[in-house]
Amino acid sequence: MRPAEFELLRPHGRAELDAILARPDADTYWLAGGQALLKDMRQRLLSPKRLVDISGLAELDYIRAQGDVLEIGAITRLATLAADAAVRRHCPALAAAAAAVGDVQIRNRATVGGNLCTGGGADVAVALLAAGAEIVVAGAGQQHRRQLADFLAGETAGNRGELIVAIRVPAAPASGFVKFSRRAADPGIVSAAATLGTRPGLAFGGVHGHVVAPPADALPALEPGSAALRTALEAFAGELDPPDTPHASAAYRRRILPVIADRAVRAAAGAA
Ligand SMILES: Cc1cc2nc3c(=O)[nH]c(=O)nc-3n(C[C@H](O)[C@H](O)[C@H](O)COP(=O)(O)OP(=O)(O)OC[C@H]3O[C@@H](n4cnc5c(N)ncnc54)[C@H](O)[C@@H]3O)c2cc1C
Repeated sequence: MRPAEFELLRPHGRAELDAILARPDADTYWLAGGQALLKDMRQRLLSPKRLVDISGLAELDYIRAQGDVLEIGAITRLATLAADAAVRRHCPALAAAAAAVGDVQIRNRATVGGNLCTGGGADVAVALLAAGAEIVVAGAGQQHRRQLADFLAGETAGNRGELIVAIRVPAAPASGFVKFSRRAADPGIVSAAATLGTRPGLAFGGVHGHVVAPPADALPALEPGSAALRTALEAFAGELDPPDTPHASAAYRRRILPVIADRAVRAAAGAA
């Protein structure tokens, strides 16, 4: 099916982008890699009146160390993240998650900012949430930082009024990501990321309406094969509302969550 008619804006540089941000509009969608948005538009699940194509804005395409934090511009492609030596050192789970998205054609276009807006199965969001990442968001006349966890919990299919301009990733050298799916290029049935060290974290995709993380104080130490961790995660899984699909029932997703978590913890321990 063809998408419904829409207006396309293509800002050249930050000044033109800021002029668009100054006029927030609920019917405007950001077009980044288009790998989720255009599919929804072709299926007429979405019919935005206006698209703003940010895919050519060089100002949003960078990977930059800032002290202990790696700042990543929102339109950085997933193929770039997967291959970048600094990303692989700083947060191996992030590189692994980017490498696990779709196939090479998708990764060559899909962006990190776009992935954060694509719901409960967003693999890169899983790795970033486990690492305790923040996002930098631009709105009308202002820019501010927000915890990724808060953004994901409030997000559906793109936050039209606001634009993610960057993602700030704390150092997570002992981190791992595991995706369990039917075929390599399929979205995960369950995906998990673990970060070990002074700021431990676990996060999951495929088990709820958005990417989720158990509260840190509900978790015992993240150790491979830990019975205490398994028990805590069984309780956490019971509080979730996983999708029920022909390939994987909600009960199955709940059941394998602790198993995939253990694999992610082992991957993180291996990276350490
Ligand atoms: C065949 C196929 C397989 C896929 N497999 C996977 C998979 O295995 N794992 C996975 O995680 N995903 C998968 N996806 C989904 C998708 O490709 C990714 O989530 C991708 O990262 C989306 O990024 P994008 O740049 O293409 O976003 P777009 O499609 O351009 O945008 C998606 C949404 O995010 C909003 N948005 C984009 N950028 C910003 C921004 N900077 N600030 C605010 N809002 C923004 C858009 O307005 C839109 O609502 C798959 C898609 C397809 C078609």
